[in-house]
Amino acid sequence: MIENLKSHISHILNETITKVSPVHGGDISTAYKIETEKNSYFIKTNKSSNALHMFQIEANGLNTIGNTNTIKTPKVLGCNRFENTAFLLMEFINSKSPSSKDFENLGSQLAKLHQCPAENFGLNQDNFIGSLPQSNKQHKSWVDFYTEERLLPQIELAKQKGLLSNAECHSGQSIQIQLQHLFQNIKPALLHGDLWSGNYLISKDGTPYLIDPAVYYGHHEVDIAMSKLFGGFGIRFYETYQDYFQPDENTSARIEIYQLYYLLVNLNLFGRSYHGSVVNIFRKYF
Ligand code: ADP
Repeated sequence: MIENLKSHISHILNETITKVSPVHGGDISTAYKIETEKNSYFIKTNKSSNALHMFQIEANGLNTIGNTNTIKTPKVLGCNRFENTAFLLMEFINSKSPSSKDFENLGSQLAKLHQCPAENFGLNQDNFIGSLPQSNKQHKSWVDFYTEERLLPQIELAKQKGLLSNAECHSGQSIQIQLQHLFQNIKPALLHGDLWSGNYLISKDGTPYLIDPAVYYGHHEVDIAMSKLFGGFGIRFYETYQDYFQPDENTSARIEIYQLYYLLVNLNLFGRSYHGSVVNIFRKYF
């Protein structure tokens, strides 16, 4: 990290920085652990022109979840631009690999997050899923929200990129007709929105934290669908979550339809290796 930025951060923290070390694993920004005599901090930096906007949205998402007091997020300590670098500064979470007990806590605390209600599906601010824009335009109907704000924009993008053909896709109308009977009695719940295993941390004392959210109010099974897409969540996570939300006869179909969104996002971000999974779900349901 450049010296000027380091002194600027030291000024914000009002502490002397004793060590800065790179943190690997992110695919968008450059991250560091910052140590002072008493504390540790985490900072993401990015020089691209829309980075500050993306960090502000990420900070809002972390605060939205953290303010529910259901599950923790790292405390945000600064979000700004210094010279040509945008940065997001937060509490550093010293993490460990999860035990069964940690998965139980993650399951029950996520369920409590999902008990936070709203009037409408969506959010008062759009955000990002990975580096792609995610529209949170509010709707009363989950079928309308999920079709118009989730599936169709990703389908359109995939067509523009030549990753899906017209023959492989379906109109919004035919998707909505199929979803009507699967999406019944669904109430808006606060979601993490991008819950793969890289987006939770268990601190050394066993406290679960969510990071990198793509928050909005949607069907609670969306987070479960994402958690199952790439794995990394223990059996006790699901067992404990089910004490709060029981599956019904359409849950497994909905899980695949919710995974379709993330598969389309990955198709658009990472290319054709996701094409087969996307097309299989289209063929099965639409
Ligand atoms: P990107 O937005 O660039 O994809 P991530 O948010 O995924 O970056 O973070 C990069 C790495 O830093 C990941 O390995 C993640 O686990 C870790 N990380 C993120 N936030 C914190 C934090 N507050 N404390 C400690 N490690 C963190």
